[in-house]
Amino acid sequence: MECVEKKIVVGISGSIIIDGSGNFAGYKRAYVNDDYVQAVIREGGIPYILPITSDVSVIEEFAKNIDVLILSGGHDINPLLWKEEPSKNLGEIFPERDNFDFTLLENMEKLKKPILGICRGEQVINTYFGGTLYQDINSLEWATLKHNQKNRPDLVTHTVNIEKNSKLHEILGEEEILVNSFHHLAVKTVAPGFKAVGFAKDGVVEAIEKEGNNLVLGVQWHPEMLAEKNNIMRKLFKYIINEAKKEKVDER
Ligand code: MN
Repeated sequence: MECVEKKIVVGISGSIIIDGSGNFAGYKRAYVNDDYVQAVIREGGIPYILPITSDVSVIEEFAKNIDVLILSGGHDINPLLWKEEPSKNLGEIFPERDNFDFTLLENMEKLKKPILGICRGEQVINTYFGGTLYQDINSLEWATLKHNQKNRPDLVTHTVNIEKNSKLHEILGEEEILVNSFHHLAVKTVAPGFKAVGFAKDGVVEAIEKEGNNLVLGVQWHPEMLAEKNNIMRKLFKYIINEAKKEKVDER
């Protein structure tokens, strides 16, 4: 019998942008940055953009219909979610998006499907599983590095050291990598059941992963913006797709 390789569907959590120009000024549009889409296609995955909705039954179907979830970057997370008042340096929040991402995570977790959180996505994972965040690392005396680079997105600007006994180390095969950096929030206390596996030289947490078998990984940088020219970053997307393939084989 011929074995037809099943294509892996990668759901990418969406956001909403208000288009201020043209015939429909002020209109809401559902979107993701195209980098995510291209990073998935490059490794042979099929990208589905998941639009924000509050309809739980729709979100359940999203989780059933995708093999992997990428939680994309974007807005700051509502600090009330980890029982903190907003600090004066908090940026724009989008509580409807927090709810959507939390519900997606909940449903993906139930199905034990692999999850990769990128930037905000890493912070969403940490918050959902009971960790806390710094609302603004620029206000911390010890966080001395520039984590919000003014350079173009495909430029690496700071180092991340990767813990040796980690899935991230296994995936990338490196103990030290260079990343881009576009964040002012960061993980404060790591969620129970998770460990911090990547650190900037100033001690800021740059990656977390869930202990145990199913892959729930969060990175604070933007690998999708680097992947076109950076083979180390490509490995992340290749890996999540391969993980999902393994799951499919197990199902049979
Ligand atoms: Mn950083």
